[in-house]
Amino acid sequence: MAINRAADLDLDQTDGKWVVTCEDHNTLVQVPSRNAARTVSTVDFCEACRTAADGDAAPAEDADKPLTRKQCAAALAEAGYTGPTSYTMAVLREVVAWVQAGSPKDAEGIPSGAIAAVHPEAKPSRRTYDAALADLRALLDNGADLDAVREFASA
Ligand SMILES: [Zn+2]
Repeated sequence: MAINRAADLDLDQTDGKWVVTCEDHNTLVQVPSRNAARTVSTVDFCEACRTAADGDAAPAEDADKPLTRKQCAAALAEAGYTGPTSYTMAVLREVVAWVQAGSPKDAEGIPSGAIAAVHPEAKPSRRTYDAALADLRALLDNGADLDAVREFASA
């Protein structure tokens, strides 16, 4: 922001002999005196500065307040999360932060149900169980004794 004489900027002095300029947005306002110019802030006359100030203020206020259950649900829905949400507020907020961080698979303190909803492959599946049975059957078919099978099963 800059303060100049209207005459120095080749401006008509009808609206005021002094000019306050927002250099960022190329907007200005004219005022009658230098003292008046000093009391002017760019948000008083510059639409773009006002919009920027509003935009900055809102999220900062929100960040200090913990999310409500409704806000958590909205944040999760927005992130595409479809897993369980019936947790305590403290846990639910953790889940929101986790989802917003990209839902890493190796998250600590996140309920396993939530992780399994986002990473279904992390949960032991029926297919793995069937595959293990097939492996066991192959071992037995190849003449493995019971000790070898026990060793395989405990591995
Ligand atoms: Zn501005």
